[in-house]
Amino acid sequence: MNKTDNVVYEEGANMLLNKDIKKKLEKESNIDIDNISIMKTEETSEKRRMKGSLKNKAEKPAKHNSTKESIFEKNKLKIIPLGGLQEVGKNITVFEYGNDIIIVDCGLGFPEDDMLGVDLVIPDTTYLEKNITKVKGLFITHGHEDHIGAIPYFLKKMNVPIYATKLTAGLITAKLEEHGLDKTAKIKVIEPRQTVTLGKFKVEFIRTTHSIADSVAFAITTPVGVVVHTGDFKVDYTPIDGQVMDFARFAELGTKGVTLLLSDSTNVERPGYTMSERNVGAEFDKIFMNSNKRIIVATFASNIHRMQQIVSSAAKFGRKVAIVGRSMIRVMGVAQELGYLTAPEGTIIDIDKIGIYNPEQLVIITTGSQGETMSGLARMSQGEHRKVTITENDLVIFSSSSIPGNEKSIGKVIDELQKIGAEVIYNQLADVHVSGHACQEELKLMLMLTKPKYFMPVHGEYRFLRHHKELAKQVGMPSDNIFISQNGRVLEIDDKSAKLTGQVPSGVVLVDGLGVGDVGNIVLRDRQMLSENGMILVVFSLESTTGALVGGPDIITRGFVYVRESEDLVDEIREYAKEQIEKLIHAHVTEWSSIKAGLRQNLCDFVYKKTKRNPMILPIITEVKLAKPKQ
Ligand SMILES: [Zn+2]
Ligand SMILES: [Zn+2]
Repeated sequence: MNKTDNVVYEEGANMLLNKDIKKKLEKESNIDIDNISIMKTEETSEKRRMKGSLKNKAEKPAKHNSTKESIFEKNKLKIIPLGGLQEVGKNITVFEYGNDIIIVDCGLGFPEDDMLGVDLVIPDTTYLEKNITKVKGLFITHGHEDHIGAIPYFLKKMNVPIYATKLTAGLITAKLEEHGLDKTAKIKVIEPRQTVTLGKFKVEFIRTTHSIADSVAFAITTPVGVVVHTGDFKVDYTPIDGQVMDFARFAELGTKGVTLLLSDSTNVERPGYTMSERNVGAEFDKIFMNSNKRIIVATFASNIHRMQQIVSSAAKFGRKVAIVGRSMIRVMGVAQELGYLTAPEGTIIDIDKIGIYNPEQLVIITTGSQGETMSGLARMSQGEHRKVTITENDLVIFSSSSIPGNEKSIGKVIDELQKIGAEVIYNQLADVHVSGHACQEELKLMLMLTKPKYFMPVHGEYRFLRHHKELAKQVGMPSDNIFISQNGRVLEIDDKSAKLTGQVPSGVVLVDGLGVGDVGNIVLRDRQMLSENGMILVVFSLESTTGALVGGPDIITRGFVYVRESEDLVDEIREYAKEQIEKLIHAHVTEWSSIKAGLRQNLCDFVYKKTKRNPMILPIITEVKLAKPKQ
């Protein structure tokens, strides 16, 4: 997750970001009853009957344009994950029945090491683009990047309505603003236990607990039964915001019969239970009470519960809190605006004001818990941060676990901080972090409550999915009813059976700066080559009518050899290039592409013989028209 906080170096920005968000959300919760209907689960059947007309209205369009749907030919429910299977991140799942498609989550993934220069990875949505008329809406489980991050790119292709709880909607809105899409997006705020009807699907929001507030699971009622998608979850009996997971509803669904369960596999390899987020608060209290140093806490920008606990502990011990990191400030702003994060008046201060307080009166919350090079904490450790200078009077807490692959960069930051003399506390030394995902016993509980007929583990690498399958077998599920799927694979369910059938296009689209999908294998191969061997430019001019060599060649190299110490080599290359160009011209090769190809090939061999290296060679020809003598 190294890149989540890729734009972090903007401290002191306005914390109470955009007052409009709240207003906008309030407006948006006036749901457009013409297109959908929303119902409270606990509603009496009488009320429901009264609303019957509404419901029918909502279901009409689907019947209207469905040609295949007759009583003789029954459709099947198709469940197609387009991301999040056999990988971590990029979560997106498609549910299709007849002429209706709904989508759950639309997250981004993070580039692999060999994807040089790629900022983000988003799911390939070709299948949805081909079926665009069927797509009715996007349902979001919670506000983490691996569930909402690809929404801007997705909306540019199909601007379907988005359904989410309040905080999630707020975070999506803030994200869309950055892409200039907030005005056109259709975001509907839904509360837990409310149900949205879109075509043949009824989607009920069910409260769960996770490392961000307002997380939900979905119970999707379809013509072939109920599908429960847990989203990310853990079982926290004492959550920070007091909003406990809706066990009763899961159990109720289980009693009535759940056809399919899709459940979070992130922590399936860990036995036991994940501890309550509250434990971390107790640990913070202990540390805050016993330290007279300035405290700097690095954590994930998206972990609002954690931020709340830091702010609460700080307030308890009379410390002020300042925030560093753009993403942190953005999330904090939205959470405060919408009432998901509270702080006593005057507790949160601008980073520019830290100078007027003593070290023991301060807490700084920053991004960079994964050692991200551009993050606030990494810059502090390098002594390059404009606002915060680390000294031996600082206590730095890493309130996070290391995401696999980031250990080295985290270790480096810890080393640097310790060299300066700061005290550093990380997860191995104290309970300053708990996970947001369910461990084995909690996953079993979910299976037991929902008692699904079929089960498909989601969110995780292949080994996680396998492990989750074993867990389900332990609690009595038959092996044949458990499906280990992969991105793009179609699971088809009808009244009698479920099976993995076809495959639709799936994969990754790479985002590099403003370019979406314009970086493919060829570009990556070039970047690989450039990074390993550098490049040589051969620049020369040919006369337009005669084709004679009239200028150059000049040799320019980058990342190949240090030119000042290799003048001889560069001279040799120039001489050789000149010979080759003249040879080609004498052989009456006039097509520029042929000249370039011939030159590139010969020069490649020559350079390799001399240096055992394979730099990229780029011949550049300019055309010159020499003035003809006047006649
Ligand atoms: Zn999450
Ligand atoms: Zn997730």
